[in-house]
Amino acid sequence: MNYKEIAQALQAPFPNGTVQFSSSNQRQAHIPVQVYISRLEKVAGEHWSWSIIGEPIIVEADSAVIVRGELSILGAKRSGMGFSHYVRGKDIKNVSAFKNAVNAAESDAIRSACDKFLIGWSDLAPYRDCESDESIEINRSEAVRETDVERVCQRCAKKLTDVDQLFLEVNRIKLPYCTEHVPKHLIKKI
Ligand SMILES: [Zn+2]
Repeated sequence: MNYKEIAQALQAPFPNGTVQFSSSNQRQAHIPVQVYISRLEKVAGEHWSWSIIGEPIIVEADSAVIVRGELSILGAKRSGMGFSHYVRGKDIKNVSAFKNAVNAAESDAIRSACDKFLIGWSDLAPYRDCESDESIEINRSEAVRETDVERVCQRCAKKLTDVDQLFLEVNRIKLPYCTEHVPKHLIKKI
């Protein structure tokens, strides 16, 4: 099988009922990470791998832990970034609870990398609203350009650091701002 054949098989629709909705936000549709992994294993077998990039990043202001990784399928690589919230003051001191948050963030990162390979798009399409349609477009171009595009803060023109980028991602802010200059009203309330 060449890459094109594998990609096509990966992008095939999942069975009905695969799409899940988060309990807190019924509009937020997602596909469980186990479904993605089993698809990767079945279609790509030994030709796929996932590796974590760097250490998990803790964004204390947001009580979030962020994991970055890279999904490789037959030599094609896409990065993924995921986050999970931990209970402020409690989880961070509780090793197993914190590990669960890191695992959840890693699962989220795998899902985001799979999304860049267009896996599950046909299943998630009905649930993507206008805003998400826009992000599909962004993802589409990201898939081509990957993540090494330089983004700079709209206010101070400083090159965004990884932490800045992650902070934007966590808050689902599309405009480029450094952490210092993110308009307060755009920051998600938890
Ligand atoms: Zn700035």
